[in-house]
Amino acid sequence: MSVSQPSNNPSFPLSQVVQIGNLSVGGNHPLCLQSMTNTNTLDTAATVAQCIRLYEAGCEIVRITAPGIKEAENLFNIKKELNKREIQIPIIADIHFNPKTAEVAAQIVEKVRINPGNYVDRNRGKVDYSEKEYQLELEKIAQRLNPLLTICKENGTAIRIGTNYGSLSERILAKYGNTPRGMVESAMEFVQICKDFGFQNLVLSMKASRVKIMIEANKLLVERLIESGQYFPIHLGVTEAGNGDEARIKSAAGIGSLLAAGIGDTIRVSLAEEPEAEIPVAKKLVNYYARKGNAVHQKNPKTSDITGKGDFPILKMQYPGIPYDELLIRSTVDFTLLHQKTNVKDIRITNQGQTNDSQLEILSQNIQQALGIRNYKTEFIACPSCGRTQFNLISALEKVKKQTSHLKTLTIAVMGCIVNGPGEMADADYGYVGAGPGKVTIYKGSLPVLKNIKETEAVQALIDLIKKEGDWVEDESAGLDL
Ligand code: SF4
Repeated sequence: MSVSQPSNNPSFPLSQVVQIGNLSVGGNHPLCLQSMTNTNTLDTAATVAQCIRLYEAGCEIVRITAPGIKEAENLFNIKKELNKREIQIPIIADIHFNPKTAEVAAQIVEKVRINPGNYVDRNRGKVDYSEKEYQLELEKIAQRLNPLLTICKENGTAIRIGTNYGSLSERILAKYGNTPRGMVESAMEFVQICKDFGFQNLVLSMKASRVKIMIEANKLLVERLIESGQYFPIHLGVTEAGNGDEARIKSAAGIGSLLAAGIGDTIRVSLAEEPEAEIPVAKKLVNYYARKGNAVHQKNPKTSDITGKGDFPILKMQYPGIPYDELLIRSTVDFTLLHQKTNVKDIRITNQGQTNDSQLEILSQNIQQALGIRNYKTEFIACPSCGRTQFNLISALEKVKKQTSHLKTLTIAVMGCIVNGPGEMADADYGYVGAGPGKVTIYKGSLPVLKNIKETEAVQALIDLIKKEGDWVEDESAGLDL
């Protein structure tokens, strides 16, 4: 089968169409906006209420975690309550580690998301695989995946093969390393098993908290899919982006620049905030940059807007009079595109007095930091939380940021659960990871150093550990009247 191109824009190829309940995704269909609940999946009323808020905000597909069989079964009650209220929003069950849970959920919801890094593979510290051992593992994956494919085929359920940079299997790591290539091959192995089975109702995703890795993995994925002759729809997201402007900027850089390149069929702007806050940001990205729709922002700054010679060229971008939330998205995506093309590293943004100079300066710095050009403050990674989270991650992240934002050589992760958090926080220097109701474990790199600390004492414990390890510096701006 050959990959086709849209009639209105022959410069980028078109993914094939996949059915997710009543929603068609891919091809020339409009981009879909997704989000994820962060309630306990067993709390039907709270989860339904959050789904309704998301739906009313404009969310078109909602993902709900199913850590175990009970949660997977309760998706039935959640769906029933939504149906009663005539809310037709496709549900995705989010599955890690547990094929049986996926098989239950696939009989209830429209789509299941599985992580190829942990669906079958278990990490046991093995670092070398002979070709024979590698092939045997692949056969084991096929045996374990085929029952799910049978159920999905019978029920018309779609599957997202969702690879995350932080949770590749040790088998993949041994062969490809922790790289964009490893992410892509991890998904392509599952794609091949699905194709061999005759299952095509697939969506793929490549997520990372580092924007450049996420962009590179998605571009590589598209190349591999086109090479293979089947271009399945792609879901875009920058994972563990954190909160506030920094998170919006990371998502804009990653998702927006790929949308502008014609890549992506569904998107999620992942924020460690109330899930509804994700939708307006996602809408702006789609409205401005999705080449499949009628993107309103076509006039990116040009190479000729770069001034200064030699090693320090500066991109000057002018956005006369536009409001700050739009400025943030447009300047981020526009700079990312020019940075990719020319490697320009410095940026000056003006918008005719609509935004004050210091806010514009901070915006420029945040964009540079999101792209890994220069660090101006601590790099924070934070998951958006989900039904696995058993503490208030949103307020914990605020507290950690307030105390540690000046440590600009460090990356600190705030993660909702001990199951996925440690893997997903990837290369963070320190981690603040939910360990149970009101309990937090503090990590140094990948090592759990202080276990099951009371949530009320955990921020101080993190600071004490950073000091003990010699990574603390005093905040020179503290007490200044800025
Ligand atoms: S790391 Fe966060 S978003 Fe991921 S499964 Fe755990 S709590 Fe949920």
